[in-house]
Amino acid sequence: MASGGSGTDGVQRVRVAVVGTGFGGLGAAIRLRAEGIDDFVVLERAESVGGTWRDNSYPGCACDVPSHLYSFSFAPNPEWPRTFSGQPDIRAYLEQVTDRHGIRPWIRFGHEVRSARWDTGTARWQISTSRGEFSAQVLVSACGPLSDPQIPDLPGLDAFPGEVFHSARWNHDYDLRGKRVAVVGTGASAIQFVPEIQKQVGRLVLFQRTPPWVMNRMDRDITGLERAVYRRVPAVQKALRGALWTVREAQVGAFTKRPAVLQLTEKLALANLRRHVKDPVLRAKLTPDYRFGCKRVLLSNSYYPALAQPNVEVVAAGLREVRGSTVVGADGSEHEVDAIVFGTGFHVTDLPVAEHITGAAGHTLAEEWKDGMAALRGTTVAGFPNLLFVIGPNTGLGNSSMVLMIESQLNYLADFLRKLDATGAAALDPTRSAQLRWNDAVQRRMTRTVWNTGGCRSWYLDGRGNNTVLWPGTTAHFRRETRTVDLSEYDRITVEN
Ligand SMILES: Cc1cc2nc3c(=O)[nH]c(=O)nc-3n(C[C@H](O)[C@H](O)[C@H](O)COP(=O)(O)OP(=O)(O)OC[C@H]3O[C@@H](n4cnc5c(N)ncnc54)[C@H](O)[C@@H]3O)c2cc1C
Repeated sequence: MASGGSGTDGVQRVRVAVVGTGFGGLGAAIRLRAEGIDDFVVLERAESVGGTWRDNSYPGCACDVPSHLYSFSFAPNPEWPRTFSGQPDIRAYLEQVTDRHGIRPWIRFGHEVRSARWDTGTARWQISTSRGEFSAQVLVSACGPLSDPQIPDLPGLDAFPGEVFHSARWNHDYDLRGKRVAVVGTGASAIQFVPEIQKQVGRLVLFQRTPPWVMNRMDRDITGLERAVYRRVPAVQKALRGALWTVREAQVGAFTKRPAVLQLTEKLALANLRRHVKDPVLRAKLTPDYRFGCKRVLLSNSYYPALAQPNVEVVAAGLREVRGSTVVGADGSEHEVDAIVFGTGFHVTDLPVAEHITGAAGHTLAEEWKDGMAALRGTTVAGFPNLLFVIGPNTGLGNSSMVLMIESQLNYLADFLRKLDATGAAALDPTRSAQLRWNDAVQRRMTRTVWNTGGCRSWYLDGRGNNTVLWPGTTAHFRRETRTVDLSEYDRITVEN
């Protein structure tokens, strides 16, 4: 049973504290139980599980990696209704996984982690939440790379008299029908919700700093017959997952080593644009001037057709300021609107959780990472003993399922706990030299990738132009690198009793 009783000081002591209940945190909880560890707690600031798939409920929200690959390997779902399932189905899947694996008793909803401080004396994490204190030997941060929405600091926005919200906090009470709406951003979320709201709004002004590369999405209903086959013959679903995975692994080299190969795909994407957008002026605005793949490639069959509708105007510039109910583009154009919807992404290279975690030397992870995020094998950070990330620096993917990376990091977590036991150490702290070696190798490989050489400025790059977000290799390569913990990369910390 869920454990870790409160001491007389009201502090609940556990072996492991996991933060977050998205794919990462839920996967960690399930893995801990599979390893025979019951002495843990999962801290979640919201009131339900799901992470990304709870918070992003905008119209049209769906995965852009096929559902049969974008799910846990240990929890295949024969019932996926579409090849790229929508948010309600992915959220329901995560709720089902939570129940089927019986991990709900370990979850503490409404517990926002406000600070986590490493106590050198006891070699434990002292964790302060909005609803109580915890002490843990090991802290697992599964707070998500895309969980804190980013809204640009725009002059005049505070005084805008209309409705303002971010796509990750969609206001379903606001009726968009007939309204004049400004949409800011043309990333993965915007291209999903723009075609949906275009049908309802009176007028839509889309502020685009950089046009994305857009390819068709092979989306379709999965038939009842197919689902029955997956239910009765799980090997068929497994084989499909294997095939989806293989295709994506085969694409990686083009992104990481031979970006020139992508010219071929550029031609296909441009043909797609020509097919849907006949107006040459609009087409010019929507034509990317950087290499395919440099920014995340977006999949949609309805984005271009929506932009070609008469109630849509594309402003090929960012939003500069807001004057009363008028939004002003960086090109000087002015548009009076009733609502502004931001599809402007998340705090990725400036993770908010880093502000709240204080390591052995007394400084925060945000201070440690002031020159850029870095971790050993994307998971542990020198000077922050017994802290493990699920989706840490350089573990993101451009073209495949993040769940594959999460499951690799869970292997590493399981071995980390085994090695802690085996060595009898109170804590393991990665050495600076091991962390440096790892990150130097990652950044060396990064120099050849399309993300660094493709001539764009994406959210993968931090303020210094370093890509500290993506993994420059295959998921199989990362799986091998995180299979076990190499103790030569760690200092052992013991405490005197
Ligand atoms: C719209 C959208 C579509 C996406 N589509 C895909 C896709 O198709 N394929 C793909 O591979 N990836 C996709 N991603 C990336 C996606 O984020 C990851 O695949 C995955 O869902 C991340 O899981 P996670 O558990 O790491 O983080 P999250 O799902 O973000 O969960 C983090 C959890 O931590 C909680 N939390 C954060 N801070 C605190 C705190 N201080 N205290 C307590 N709790 C906290 C949050 O409330 C949240 O529940 C998409 C992302 C978005 C936003």
